[in-house]
Amino acid sequence: MRRRLAAGNWKMNGTAASLSEVEALLDAHVSPSVEILLCPPATLISAMAAVKGQHPLMIGGQDCHAEAKGAHTGDIAAAQLADAGATHVIVGHSERRTNHGETDETVAAKARAAHGAGLVAVICLGETLEEREGGRTLEVVGRQLDASVPDGATGQNTVIAYEPVWAIGTGLTPTNGQIGEVHEFLRSRLSARFGAEAAHVRLLYGGSVKPSNAAEIFGIPDVDGALVGGASLKAADFSPIIEAL
Ligand code: 13P
Repeated sequence: MRRRLAAGNWKMNGTAASLSEVEALLDAHVSPSVEILLCPPATLISAMAAVKGQHPLMIGGQDCHAEAKGAHTGDIAAAQLADAGATHVIVGHSERRTNHGETDETVAAKARAAHGAGLVAVICLGETLEEREGGRTLEVVGRQLDASVPDGATGQNTVIAYEPVWAIGTGLTPTNGQIGEVHEFLRSRLSARFGAEAAHVRLLYGGSVKPSNAAEIFGIPDVDGALVGGASLKAADFSPIIEAL
């Protein structure tokens, strides 16, 4: 019922030369059985859209402003991402929450802006190590889910990515049981709020996903795919992750 999704977040990496990795990825997955999304820096969105041509690869931004336009130097509006060729945008990544002080309310406003521009919002949430060790994981992700996901979210316009902060870029991953517990919790919390529509919302896991652990993680119930950082930069790493889906 939910199509699996392999999403790559390039973060602040990549220049025009990196588009050769996209070409290699497209060559390896001419007609993929899962959905593939790449979120490059905004500077590469239109060039990536040109490289992909008719390939079903989807392209996303990594952040958008909550406003549609105006005096916001350095920011990008959701409609501008769409204009450049994006169909998705990541909002609420922990690096934005930490480095730019984004709150759940900011994230919800950005997700609303994304929806308003016709983009799919990939809404990120996840606990810190301190919160995990304090036994507060479900409380934290529950609060983030409630407050970061706007009314009007559907399986068509929203993807949720569970990314434990302590697993991002560290090589550490939660146990399968820990991932499964959070995903099951998120699904039931979405069901309580959105009813039957919750069954259509994809839940991605993110944090140190790599070729060697992808198949195991994708075998966990309620994991519909992954949001991959470092291992999405090279086709040789991202390709086996796509295949593991
Ligand atoms: P890594 O895969 O590099 O741990 O990053 C995960 C992430 O933050 C994706 O958004």
